[in-house]
Parts: sequence; C-alpha cells; structure tokens
Amino acid sequence: MRLGAISHLALAALVAGAALADTPIAARERETLRLEARGAATHELRLTLAVLEGSGWTREAIVPLAAQSARILAQCNVALVSVELVRIGAPARFRDYATPTARELARTLPLARPTVYFVADTRQRPAFDAEAIGRANSRTRPELADTVWLTRATRDPGIALAHELVHVLMDSGEHAIEPGNLMNAETAPESTRLTPDQCARLQSNATASGLLRQAK
Ligand SMILES: [Zn+2]
Repeated sequence: MRLGAISHLALAALVAGAALADTPIAARERETLRLEARGAATHELRLTLAVLEGSGWTREAIVPLAAQSARILAQCNVALVSVELVRIGAPARFRDYATPTARELARTLPLARPTVYFVADTRQRPAFDAEAIGRANSRTRPELADTVWLTRATRDPGIALAHELVHVLMDSGEHAIEPGNLMNAETAPESTRLTPDQCARLQSNATASGLLRQAK
C-alpha cells in the first residue's frame, strides 16, 4: 500500500513536471488599466502591456511606468486612451528576450500593437536592457514590428518605456543630443522633453502607420 501510494505521488509529480515544461503560450489574464486623463489630446494611443509570468515584473511595478509614459507623451498631445495589461504564461525559455523565442511568442499569441513586453533579461548580444523594434528594422523578423522589450535591468524604466515607444511611433532609431531630451541615447530622470519637431514627426508617422488615431 505504502509503496503504491509513493509511486502514485511520484507519477503525479512527473505529470505535473511534464505539464510545467509544456506550459502552452497563453494569455492567462487580461485587464484594462484606467489611467488618469490628461488635457486635450489630438492623438490617441492604444497600448498593450504584456507581462511574462516568472519574469519578475509585477502589475504594481508596471502600472506607474505606464502612467509616467503617459505623462511624457502628453507633451505631444498624445493620450493613452486604452492600456490593456496581459499576463502571459509560457515555458521558461520565453522569459528572456532573444530574437527566435520573441518571434515564436509574438506569432503564437498575437496582441494588438504597439505591444510592450516585460521580460526578465536578454540573451541577445550586444545586450540592451531595452529594445524597440519598428517597421524599418523588422524586415527579417516581421512578427516583432511595433514592439518594445523591457528587461528587469532597465534603468529609469518609466522614461525608458516612453523613449522606446517614441522609437516605435516614429519608426526611427535616431537619438537626440540636446540636454534634457527624452531621445538621448542614455536615459536619465531629467531627460523627458520632446521638441515640437519630434512631436510633429511622431504624430504624422504613427498616424500614417495606424499606431495613433486622431482624436475626434
Ligand atoms: Zn533609443
């Protein structure tokens, strides 16, 4: 009897282990975040925030980053009108950013763009804490167009999130050199400004590509 019970337990553990290894890629939970409305916007952005389970990112950590990005983008009269937070269950290899697994993830679970993926780390070399993939630099990896990948190592993550989103909205990897500009290559807490010219380019490019909508 005792032996039988043990082997039954062992079998259950084996089955559980196998199930864990084969966790399908799936949206476990979806939530629409309500961010405070800010002034009169001319353009509206709908954003998807995708959190990989086991990445170390939590809802509590992410919500303030979305709010901070919304405040930064408001200077270009862009409002985050809808933010959907999606919790993704997936095998452990998907928790870090690497082109092949990122492509598989994006292909298997299509999400409305632009999407920000919150991942643990990166396996890419050179290793960037945060990456933005627009349309111009996604020809060999089309599934990743209009996505941002933020690792846990990202400094000033609310500012980095806005910075990477601007790359995607402008579809440009260009950096600025003016002090205090959001698009400096190195993010910093005081670097949050966008020039009227950057705002104009962001609005026109992202409206043309369908990532922004003109407010009615
Ligand atoms: Zn950049």
